Amino acid sequence: MKKVLVMGAGQLARMMALAGAPLNIQVLAYDVNTNTVVHPVTQQKFALTLAEAVADADVVSSEFEHIPYPVQDVCEASGKFFPNSTAIKAGGDRRQEKQLLDAAGVANAGYRIVSTEAEFHAAIAALGLPLVLKSALAGYDGKGQWRLKHHEDAAAIWADIESFMQGANHALPQAIVAEQFVRFDREVSLVGARNAKGDTVVYPLTENHHVNGVLAVSLALPGRQELQQQAKQMFDAVAAKLDYVGVLALEFFQVGDKLLVNEIAPRVHNSGHWTQQGSDTCQFENHLRAVCGLPLGSTALVRPTLMVNILGEDYVDPAVLALPSCHLHWYGKGKRAGRKMGHINLSGETVAELAERFVVLSKLLPAQSFPEVADMAVKLAKSV
Ligand code: AMP
Repeated sequence: MKKVLVMGAGQLARMMALAGAPLNIQVLAYDVNTNTVVHPVTQQKFALTLAEAVADADVVSSEFEHIPYPVQDVCEASGKFFPNSTAIKAGGDRRQEKQLLDAAGVANAGYRIVSTEAEFHAAIAALGLPLVLKSALAGYDGKGQWRLKHHEDAAAIWADIESFMQGANHALPQAIVAEQFVRFDREVSLVGARNAKGDTVVYPLTENHHVNGVLAVSLALPGRQELQQQAKQMFDAVAAKLDYVGVLALEFFQVGDKLLVNEIAPRVHNSGHWTQQGSDTCQFENHLRAVCGLPLGSTALVRPTLMVNILGEDYVDPAVLALPSCHLHWYGKGKRAGRKMGHINLSGETVAELAERFVVLSKLLPAQSFPEVADMAVKLAKSV
């Protein structure tokens, strides 16, 4: 039996625990908001301090990047923290992330770091408009983001950014990454794993559809090899630069035949949830294999699969389970508007079969809670 302690006690730790059980890997989670050690499935609390839980674990890992630095220091000092805190910090601070991407030599949108009004105007002059302005810290799912399209809006947006930065309560100085707006054709992501020896495996590129800045649907279909190779090269470059161990996700903008990295996630990723039904080895198992020093599992796509996020709802018509190859994954969380509550994985033996099933599934999902999903289903059906 191996014990893995995960920083963060949300659905990602929960799904790691579920994937670890058959391998005799016990996953416990450290909730950094309440400073308690919990079982990520039952939420049972353990009377352990962070130091005790770290000492008791064989491996320490993480399910999210916004871990307070003092907590990361305790993990790192144990010598068994995978991925390491350099990787976690790069995922949690867009300044470090951009520097990493440049150092790894992977293409990304042109940018400037902005802390003052003068730097804001210098960024506009250097990069041109439109610009996407992103808070360096604690920005995810489109939060802490502004779009500047016209010069006449600059003053108002700067005032808004300034009050955001002043209101932020961070141990670290906040700043803004001003980024060139990318007119992308698609958003795709690559999830993969790297072990301590430096071997990597990657899943097929996944096409992602966001609604209001939040992932709504991911599609894993057989894809073009050139694009997959390009993504794999970028993955290897970033993972090697970080001496990364575990599952890592890269999110890209696709512009024509070229990929630009948008951001990295030093963890299992929402756009990899489809691997539970669509791949030989799911991302949660491969993460545990990587951090526990076990051989990595095949990442082959065994059948076209898609994932639909369940946001802010704790009920889905059970009739969805009557659809062939349709699986529900609830996270056991309390209902809150917009919260990630669970997901649905749907597979087909062919893309045409998957598309057909997606149309049926989308009719069981109310448009109010699943906006744009019905349109995506129709679009996929028309594309085959
Ligand atoms: P992020 O939090 O960086 O993932 O951004 C959330 C969403 O905003 C992305 O999924 C894109 O749809 C959009 N976005 C972010 N950065 C850019 C950019 N530089 N150009 C165009 N769209 C962007």
